[in-house]
Amino acid sequence: MLTNNKKGVFRLLIFALLQFFICSCNNKPLYYTVADFNNLPKIDIHFHYNTADIRYLKFADSLNIRLISPNVDTEMPIDEQLKITASIKKEYPKKFAFFGTFSVDSFNNAGFAEKTIARIDQCMKAGASGIKIWKNIGMVLKDTSGRNVMVDDLAFEPVFNYLEANKIPLLVHLGEPRNCWLPEERMTVGNDHRYYTKHPQYYMYLHPEQPSYEDQINARDNLLKKHPNLNFTGAHLASLEWNVDELAKRFDLFPNMKADLAARIGHLQYQSLTDRERVRNFLINYQDRILYGSDMTINEQDADFSQVSKGIRARWFEHWAYLATDSVFVIKDLGGQSVKGLQLPRNVVDKIFCKNAEQFFGN
Ligand SMILES: [Zn+2]
Repeated sequence: MLTNNKKGVFRLLIFALLQFFICSCNNKPLYYTVADFNNLPKIDIHFHYNTADIRYLKFADSLNIRLISPNVDTEMPIDEQLKITASIKKEYPKKFAFFGTFSVDSFNNAGFAEKTIARIDQCMKAGASGIKIWKNIGMVLKDTSGRNVMVDDLAFEPVFNYLEANKIPLLVHLGEPRNCWLPEERMTVGNDHRYYTKHPQYYMYLHPEQPSYEDQINARDNLLKKHPNLNFTGAHLASLEWNVDELAKRFDLFPNMKADLAARIGHLQYQSLTDRERVRNFLINYQDRILYGSDMTINEQDADFSQVSKGIRARWFEHWAYLATDSVFVIKDLGGQSVKGLQLPRNVVDKIFCKNAEQFFGN
């Protein structure tokens, strides 16, 4: 029997041969150039659209980008998020989609599961493409004895059974990047450092009494063991952003698991500084399981449209060019080091940026 490693090499070889064959038949170049960015259809599956201002949607459309906005059980009331996203979806169903969410406020009360299932139905009826759950499960929510409630808690079973039986896609942000449990000087990317300075309540290195990184990952893995048929997308490289081999192991274990790149491309760039081929081969091997997302957020107060949209475009472009071309970038978040783009083959880029997510638009 082939080991996973040999299987990976074998897959890559077949893939390279196929690529060569297809491209020489069509006379198409193997790779995109930066000039292709505007024209190609793209989907950002993780773009928090927290405003009724549709200028940003039109702007995205002008760059051939469709948006999926995940509602999140934090800060802005979830009913307000649902109202905004459902009405944009109704008006622009070909350009916009969203994931609904539910609150865990009543977790310790009788009837939590029934209430949650009713909320899921409400979101799906309002046009949601699926349901998002957030890191408050595992990191904030407590049971009546004051213990952290993890995602594999029995009380969630009816909810996950319901999602699994009804084939409702689930976008899951559980845990945090591994940097969250490390001292500042060992953190690998600048934006993690900035985030935990701003949000010390989530900086687990300061809270050693809280569940460990491994506890968070194990709880998620248990959920997938119990519910192998869940249509599951792990947001933020499924919190295994620090090592593509760790994520590859989960993809092999859980065939219905996918992952988005939201706010973690810096971690791929960090790994590609030392081993570009390993990162590139991982994305080629698992091209059907990776979805592009940026994790950018726009709010009501983002009124300076021209400046905000310029920043958004720059981010989208840099992400796309890193994956699709061999351009060299100076990355501020990596202390100004230069990173060479991965230049993935065209059809891999198409899958990561569009085809893998098209199911959420019902195409
Ligand atoms: Zn997010």
